[in-house]
Parts: sequence; structure tokens; C-alpha cells
Amino acid sequence: MKLLMHTCCAPCSVYCIKSLREEGIEPTLFWYNPNIHPVMEYVARRDTLIKYSEMIDAKLILKEEYGLREFCKNVCNDVENRCVNYCYRVRLEETARYAKENGFDAITTTLFVSPYQKHDDIKKICKEIASKYGLEFVYRDFRVGFREGQNEARQLGLYMQKYCGCIYSEESRYFNHNQGMPRLPEGFEFLPVKHSVNIKKEKDDKERYLKLLLEADPSEEMINKYLSNGELFVLTYNDEPACVAVVTKINNDTVELKNIATKENFRGKGYAKKMIKYLLDNYKPRYKKMIVGTTENNIPFYVKQGFDKYEKTIKNFFVDNYNEEIKDGDLVCTDLIYYSKDLKKVER
Ligand code: SF4
Repeated sequence: MKLLMHTCCAPCSVYCIKSLREEGIEPTLFWYNPNIHPVMEYVARRDTLIKYSEMIDAKLILKEEYGLREFCKNVCNDVENRCVNYCYRVRLEETARYAKENGFDAITTTLFVSPYQKHDDIKKICKEIASKYGLEFVYRDFRVGFREGQNEARQLGLYMQKYCGCIYSEESRYFNHNQGMPRLPEGFEFLPVKHSVNIKKEKDDKERYLKLLLEADPSEEMINKYLSNGELFVLTYNDEPACVAVVTKINNDTVELKNIATKENFRGKGYAKKMIKYLLDNYKPRYKKMIVGTTENNIPFYVKQGFDKYEKTIKNFFVDNYNEEIKDGDLVCTDLIYYSKDLKKVER
């Protein structure tokens, strides 16, 4: 099989190339990423891939296009949906076009390794484009090797990018990391704001938190099942419940984070993150692993909290277990995707 693999960067390619080679498939790498900005970032990622392809003796085709203006022109009216509506499509379409014109018979992409990407959407787009060009679509869920590949890339000293690629993702990175804190003129400082945040296990009157739990899981029946045998934790801000979480025991080694919900007016302040940190510290002495089942939209959040090992996908979970259509933002939920955190690796 002559496989052309769209390659977004060197670190993401490490596991993809390795696992395909183990299957006896030698992919040709195809660099076409007009979504990477600014110029120096584009150059750093491209040159790292050139260096890495030489190191591992992989064939690399470079299709150069620094596309800031074209990219912004195409996504500025719908920035939130830019990945699916434009970015994936434009890169995969060019990959397929090149493959067709140059005697390849199959395509795939390294985007399938990243738990931060919209995996199912990429799969759908890839399938559609491959069929349009009469090519085979080689699908692999490379996410199982994401961490392994990243670690290897780090050990090799490859340049590791800090954001997905476009200026919008760079902006998200900045705001996420700085919590939107504005800068004050020199000589001024923020006065400490009095607040108290506490987390405790709630043994009695668990039903009191049902309304908030329903924000993360719309089935009262489901919640009642795991609430009765699970442990409920409540984070309060100045004595007001702001975030709740339920954890159940799976076996002697594993617990599952079944539900975590933050009240609307407390969202975006890091309370869910604080709650997860607390839970990991709390269960670490007694268990080896914590798992969480999530929709595709929330994978990046959990990966950032350390749930970086892909476990399994329960196909059609939301269709089979709920009477009504379940939505997460714009996403109609179908599959439940499990990730885990090794509790032995929790730093105190
Ligand atoms: S966040 Fe990443 S995938 Fe989405 S548009 Fe930006 S570069 Fe493309």
C-alpha cells in the first residue's frame, strides 16, 4: 500500500509512524499546514519535522504555504467551528489531491493521535474526502500512543509546540493560562480578595445536590444509581456550593469519576480543576487508577488534568441509555470515551 500521511508536526508523528511501521506500512509524510501561525512557529514546526524525518529515514513531502491571511478570511465569521468547518478539511483535501495526482492509493493523518482534536469529526471528513478522490482511508485510533509519542519526542529533544496551531488557539492558550487577569500599571497591585474555598465529603442529604448534578448528567435515574453507592464531594465558595463531584468504586484498584458539575456563575474559575486535584489526592493512597467517561468535547479538559491514557470507547452509549437526545454544546453525544489517570503518578 502506498500511504500518504498528512503530518501536522514531528511530535505527533512519532507514535503514528512507529505503529504503522510495526504493521509493515511505510507512510510517506505530507507537510501541509497553512493553519500554523505566526511565521516563526510555522518554521519551527516544519524544520523539526524535516530533522525528525531525516533521523528516522522517513520520506517527507513538503507543500509549503504560510496561510495566515487566507486562514483568517475563511474562519473569522465562525471562529468557534473553525476546526471542523475549515482547518481539518483544507489540509486533508490537499493531502488527498496530492495523493491522487502522485500515485498514492491511501491517506491518513497524524491528527488521529491527539486527544485534543475532534477525533470523530476528522474521521468523518477523512472518509468523505478519501472517497471523493477514490482513495483508501487508513483509519487508526493513534490516541492510545499519544503520551508515549510525546515522551519519546521530548527525549529526542524535538521542538514541542505549546498550542494547536492557529492564532485563535494561541489566544486560548494565553487566556487559559492567565485566567484573564488584566495587567495593572507599575506601582499598583491587586488587593487580596477575601474568599474561602473548601471541599468536603457529603454523607447525608445527597439529593440536595441533584439539581447541580443534573447539569452534567441529564438522567435523574442514572444519577440516583451511582449517587446511592458513590461518594459525593462538594466544593463551597464562601459556604455556597459551587462544584460537586461523585466518585464510585469499580474494583479494588480503580475508581470512576462519574459526575462533576460546576454552577453556572462559578464556571471558568478553575473550581472543577481544584475539585479533581482534591479527588486525585484523596484516592491516591487507596487506589491505583481513576477513570472518567466523557464526550468528545471534554477530552482536552480531562487530558489537561492528567487523564492522559485512553482506555476504551462505549459506542452509542448516549443513544442506548438515554431516552432523549443528549447534547454537549453543539455536539450530539453518541459515544462515551474513557480516559484514565495513574494515581501513583499524582504529585502532591
Ligand atoms: S485550533 Fe487547531 S485544528 Fe482548530 S483551527 Fe486552530 S489550528 Fe486548526
